[in-house]
Amino acid sequence: MVSRVIPVDPFDLVIFGGTGDLARRKILPGLFRRFRSGQMPEGARIIAAARSEMDRAGYQQMIADAIQEFGAEEKNDKDAIAKFLDVLDYTPIDAKGKDGWAALASMVRKDVIQAFYFSVAPSLFGDLAQRLHDYKISNDQSRIVVEKPFGRDLETAKALNKSLADHFDEKQIYRIDHYLGKETVQNLMAVRFGNVLFEPLWNNHYVDHIQITVAETVGVGGRGAYYDRSGAMRDMVQNHLMQLLCLIAMEPPSQFGADEVRDEKLKVIRALKPVDPHHIVRGQYDAGPDGPSYREDAENPRSFTESFIAMKCHIDNWRWAGVPFYLRTGKRMKARTSEIAVVFKDLGHSIFEGDEKRHRNILAIRLQPNEGIDLQVTIKEPGPGGMRLVDVPLDMTFADALGHAEHEVPDAYERLIMDVIRGSQTLFMRGDEVEAAWAWTDPLIQGWEERNDVPKHYDAGSSGPEDALMLLHREGRKWRDIKG
Ligand code: NAD
Repeated sequence: MVSRVIPVDPFDLVIFGGTGDLARRKILPGLFRRFRSGQMPEGARIIAAARSEMDRAGYQQMIADAIQEFGAEEKNDKDAIAKFLDVLDYTPIDAKGKDGWAALASMVRKDVIQAFYFSVAPSLFGDLAQRLHDYKISNDQSRIVVEKPFGRDLETAKALNKSLADHFDEKQIYRIDHYLGKETVQNLMAVRFGNVLFEPLWNNHYVDHIQITVAETVGVGGRGAYYDRSGAMRDMVQNHLMQLLCLIAMEPPSQFGADEVRDEKLKVIRALKPVDPHHIVRGQYDAGPDGPSYREDAENPRSFTESFIAMKCHIDNWRWAGVPFYLRTGKRMKARTSEIAVVFKDLGHSIFEGDEKRHRNILAIRLQPNEGIDLQVTIKEPGPGGMRLVDVPLDMTFADALGHAEHEVPDAYERLIMDVIRGSQTLFMRGDEVEAAWAWTDPLIQGWEERNDVPKHYDAGSSGPEDALMLLHREGRKWRDIKG
């Protein structure tokens, strides 16, 4: 099946930090794929602005190299690459000074959609917003896109929000959480709200518990110094896992509009109960055959920062009263996988004689690898021998079900940038959501800092510390296997 590509309107997209790692690895290769698919209209322009002194030809070469390094099979399409490079421009700029701003002002057109992507350290967000305003480059229709981390606590997030709000309306601000751009995450909403099957069961009468796992095989090497000031709670839970939790737990919005969806997500965050410290397990990976320990990676032999966290949360509302939400994320785990699993309750009574096993329906939403959804159902094992029951997955891997090769499913960044141009904020975090998430996170972090909590060790390549397994075991539950 060939997907339908609807071109967006002409635009100027300015990428501050256009020479950085994120721009070269994700943003530009993603934009190239959208260009090649025909989604970028004639007259779309991408202007990179960064600190390096470089001319346009130099930047075009940098991006040609980046496409070769980070692109998939589209990197062989030399014709398309040449046309895409034509769309690119570059101007050196100093976010904190005067240099380059007049030049940028003369490059950005006033009569097309303007988007400014802040792919720079958050400490520069305020400077960029201020200068876009002072040099009259932006207008009240311009959009700005900001990257994570959005603060490191409630206070810093509020300050960042204010520095943007001084010059831009909330309707112009697109806070990226690339998890929201994943195909499966949007499908989660389609499955919940586009089918009659699930919503009646989506509550504490039928759901035993929910598990959200984001496991990575990589360590923190390379960004150890940054990570050591952050940890899994700030780096992953406060944003990505929280967003997934919101989408799985929220009430149906009245329509699929940006504020309707975000209002419902906000209610979930506000209904989260403080977590009992006994229901939090923090961990740090040990050295393994293929890598150093967390403390070596972080170059901090006395670090108490967690590279793994598991916790049990509760949402204090009618729908979810008594249903645990188990969250878990970590580095150097045994496989790279992200999934949400809705584990339904056991049958109250089995009519099948000799059937001792607990059969459970589980709806698993896989974000990676092989984005898709599978529903575990119980059926009769084929063949003679009576009514023997067996649990099988009804697997809907999108690539198979919809006939797309995996590389044809747009990457989260591509989708989100096109949403910015379309002016759709549904898949972006609103300022109050981010603040509410920090308001829930801050006391938990303060709690373990005050207690001088020491993270548990876990083997690199494992499923995390033993205590995390016990978090569920002691309640007669079990984490789903972390499979690649
Ligand atoms: P980077 O250090 O590789 O690049 C930083 C960019 O900012 C460069 O282009 C540099 O020229 C520019 N810059 C720095 N100081 C400047 C100044 N004073 N004036 C103008 N330009 C300046 O960083 P990155 O990894 O590309 O990250 C960019 C942003 O994206 C950060 O906020 C980061 O937290 C976020 N982010 C990055 C990733 C990733 O995978 N790299 C993932 C998620 C979020």
